[in-house]
Amino acid sequence: MSFADLGLMPELLAALDAVGYTTPTPIQRDAIPVVLAGRDLLAAAQTGTGKTAGFTLPMLQLLSSRHAAHPSTRHRPRALILTPTRELAAQVEENVSAYGKNLALNSMVMFGGVGMQPQVTKLRGKIDILVATPGRLLDHVGQGTLDLGGIELFVLDEADRMLDMGFIRDIRRVLAILPKQRQNLLFSATFADEIRALASSLLKDPATVEVTPRNTTVERIEQTIYPVDREAKRQLLEKLIRDGEWSQVLVFTRTKHGANRLAEQLDKHGIPAMAIHGNKSQSAREKALREFKANRLRVLVATDIAARGIDIDALPHVVNYELPQVPEDYVHRIGRTGRAGAGGEAVSLVCVDELKLLADIERTIKQKLNRVVVPGFEPDPNAKPEPLRKAPPPRGPRRDKPARAADQVRRDQPSQRRR
Ligand code: AMP
Repeated sequence: MSFADLGLMPELLAALDAVGYTTPTPIQRDAIPVVLAGRDLLAAAQTGTGKTAGFTLPMLQLLSSRHAAHPSTRHRPRALILTPTRELAAQVEENVSAYGKNLALNSMVMFGGVGMQPQVTKLRGKIDILVATPGRLLDHVGQGTLDLGGIELFVLDEADRMLDMGFIRDIRRVLAILPKQRQNLLFSATFADEIRALASSLLKDPATVEVTPRNTTVERIEQTIYPVDREAKRQLLEKLIRDGEWSQVLVFTRTKHGANRLAEQLDKHGIPAMAIHGNKSQSAREKALREFKANRLRVLVATDIAARGIDIDALPHVVNYELPQVPEDYVHRIGRTGRAGAGGEAVSLVCVDELKLLADIERTIKQKLNRVVVPGFEPDPNAKPEPLRKAPPPRGPRRDKPARAADQVRRDQPSQRRR
């Protein structure tokens, strides 16, 4: 099965050739024909499955073939993709640009935390496809700098994360201003009742596609626990990185402060590292991600929420510098390695304070994890656990506008997903 077999146009096939994809992933194989046929779609798929191309490719084709009939005008895009985070929005828009490079369609990404004015200026041009986070989108609608009356195609990406982050009211507000006649695509990793309710109010006679959940991938990840004293974690991490010659490592900490401190210390000890979390400016995060992807940065230290939506292929090493408070986050974290069929390695540095968290994780994943004590880093058998420092409540986010309940407020809060 090739992309041509799915009915994609030559301009898209050429773009796919340029990015080097030869075979559609299962979600692409199932979703592309349905979307091309103009149907609504309910898709169960997570990051890493190729879902973005699954909706972007047919969207580009539909818009391009209808191009002459309904030209987009100022402030009035024809397709809207809503995502929960800025990072994901930026990545989706990068994909739209890459796949659409041979077509006469324009795209734009829009999110909070950066100035309004450049976005206002850009909206005055012809924008066909808008990728946005909900808060900033509504800001523009409120100001009259964006008109959603021309939307033919609407995509809600990572709907479950949208709800987790408290965006349901914003989503409903957006839905209320979209034209009635439109095609809708909803992507979600999970299908809790809330998602089903949203789907039934959003989608008309949808086709359903589902790809294997990530748990199957987790089995292919080599997981190791390194018991170690609290104070020796950093040195052990440095040793593992150096001895293993790890070149691209995603390290998780529980708090933003912890992420900053660890990145600084590693950097000082000759391991180029940067932190990425909700208190960092947009440009700092983008820079960190760019440097990391370009292999100029060896370590990216991230908090859980900041790490979601980071799109890096087949990340070889993920480290839990501190175990997450919630066992499911362990699965999310290690799922960042071993993508697209490739194997991966996930290691966790565990001190006496975290033994209960470790037991919870092992119960959740129904697996006893392998322990390796590194000579010279044997944990003190008499060490007493200390209470874990909780992630502090989020500080006021940097916003260019004060009062909106929007994109970043909830970014780095402890997760409150249904469990
Ligand atoms: P996504 O699930 O959309 O975040 O995509 C996961 C990763 O897979 C992205 O880095 C894509 O660039 C990559 N990808 C998507 N489709 C394909 C394909 N057909 N072949 C190879 N890689 C792909």
